[in-house]
Amino acid sequence: MPRPIVCVSIDCLQFSLSSIVAEINTFPGSSACWALLYARIGEVFKKDAEAFMKISHGWLNTAQQLPSPNCDPRPSAEISLIVVHGISLPAGHFGNTYVNDLFLNQLNLDAHPDFADLQSVCVSSHLLIRRDGRLLQYVPFHQRAWHAGISSFKGRSSCNDFSVGIELEGTDEAGYNANQYLQLASVCRLMLDTWQIPADHIVGHCDIAPGRKTDPGPAFKWAEFHALLAATGSLRESLSS
Ligand SMILES: [Zn+2]
Repeated sequence: MPRPIVCVSIDCLQFSLSSIVAEINTFPGSSACWALLYARIGEVFKKDAEAFMKISHGWLNTAQQLPSPNCDPRPSAEISLIVVHGISLPAGHFGNTYVNDLFLNQLNLDAHPDFADLQSVCVSSHLLIRRDGRLLQYVPFHQRAWHAGISSFKGRSSCNDFSVGIELEGTDEAGYNANQYLQLASVCRLMLDTWQIPADHIVGHCDIAPGRKTDPGPAFKWAEFHALLAATGSLRESLSS
């Protein structure tokens, strides 16, 4: 008699988690935060598998939709790059709606002195991951969001043409939250699988606009993120086999 799917999932997750736990011990500066991440990844991916996180008509089914006018058609259907950003308005202030307002061209420039520089700025991103891991989507993936600006990746300019932009609510210096890493790894895994993007095509804004942009900054732990992403890959393979 076939076992219920939830039991199969738990078996696979436990098998994968044992290798993950061994791996996390090799991280330089391994902390309780990362232990927490790996302890929770099984829970997250069990939920993911049950909820079937998916992209439908360019929208992620697990994200709140806030359509931005700041987008246009891509020059081709190619999506081959993921750009990770960090953002908060004002810098270091979290949990408000100012980033939404900026991306929707509804920002009250009088709300804070720092906003004066944002007059006539029309920008957007595909996704924002809040400090608690909640997802918001402003532009469908088949459309070009305006997040990278003047940029170059492996000799190709205009990265907006062929990339997805993912904003993490944060600053260059404040640590990003465990929920954000989990959500980012989950979303990136789905994107890598959907568009056959290699894992080394996930970069920071700082990498494609050096000297002009610094986000997501030194606060973002790339090595730990890639280990987490690799773990999601093995978990997803286990769950689908
Ligand atoms: Zn950026």
